[in-house]
Amino acid sequence: MNICPRLEIDLNKIKHNTKVLAESCKKSNIQLAGVTKVFCGNPEIAKAIAEGGVVMLADSRIENLKKIASIDIPKLLLRLPMRSQVEDVVKYADISLNSEIKTIEELGQVAVAQDKVHKIILMIDLGDLREGVWQDHAIDMVGDIVKLEGVQLIGIGTNLTCYGGVIPNSQNLSILVEVANRIENQFGISLEIISGGNSSSLYLLEKDEMPKGINHLRLGESILLGRETAYGNVIKDTYQDAFTFVAEIIELKEKPSIPIGEIGVDAFGNKPTFVDRGIRKRAILGVGRQDVSLSNITPLDDKMIILGASSDHLIIDVTDCEKEYAVGDEIRFEVEYGALLQLMTSEYIQKVMK
Ligand SMILES: *Cc1c(COP(=O)(O)O)cnc(C)c1O
Repeated sequence: MNICPRLEIDLNKIKHNTKVLAESCKKSNIQLAGVTKVFCGNPEIAKAIAEGGVVMLADSRIENLKKIASIDIPKLLLRLPMRSQVEDVVKYADISLNSEIKTIEELGQVAVAQDKVHKIILMIDLGDLREGVWQDHAIDMVGDIVKLEGVQLIGIGTNLTCYGGVIPNSQNLSILVEVANRIENQFGISLEIISGGNSSSLYLLEKDEMPKGINHLRLGESILLGRETAYGNVIKDTYQDAFTFVAEIIELKEKPSIPIGEIGVDAFGNKPTFVDRGIRKRAILGVGRQDVSLSNITPLDDKMIILGASSDHLIIDVTDCEKEYAVGDEIRFEVEYGALLQLMTSEYIQKVMK
């Protein structure tokens, strides 16, 4: 018997999804960075993505880039480097996204000491209000970067739909291309990368509205779960079920739907509310909020109702299910991005590759 709770990971499906996306992006002259942060830089998954046709692997955390150091493909650090981590950044990342000159200076010094040239992609904030310099400061910033030793500006990029929820479109991404053109003209350099965002930019390819000049995307969720993230649509010819979460029934009993006694607060300080459905058959699964949040998982048996969870117990109403469940049975769930992030991060969840 397989151990529960576990996350089943189908490497072939992930590789297939990567191939489909890499090939369709290639038709528009766009190269891909495969983003590994959702799965904490697991080397087996990262390898499947590398084999699927991305030109680099990217992660927001140095700890994860360390885990995939032996995969022979350029590495990109997605989160702006911490000044306290510049040594490791230069050691484990070939390229990093940046917006602070002080940090870039230190990267340059460390690179010179390590006898390397560290590559820089300057982030431009087009309005989502997470990282990046404002576009009218870009030229000044580039002027400062090109004077430095040890670093090379290889491109510019932007990130959208993360903090502000701003959706990429042909207007805002055209600004990025214009900024790139201005930089190239002013400094007589050529920028090899114009990175037009994450999985929320993909829908523009489908609609043929991706501005010419955008030649790079950084994709995580779309590769892993087969969805674009501007509108949540499924991507044609991809799998949505490369990951399946499996938990085990540890108690199965008929009980009332309303607790007996005075109702205080639950384990998390919230006052719970209940729907009276009469006596129901309830299954307790050996997994809880320490591992995953309920709102991001969906049972494959659509007759199940998730009732709630405490730290280590997940309670499900199985009364309407056609299958007669028993203690020890496995219950399977589809996962969303948030659940995947938590399940991969939880040390209590076995990761089983298929
Ligand atoms: C996480 C991240 C991505 C990937 O986002 P997805 O929506 O998973 O494709 C791309 N760029 C940056 C800067 C990120 O932090």
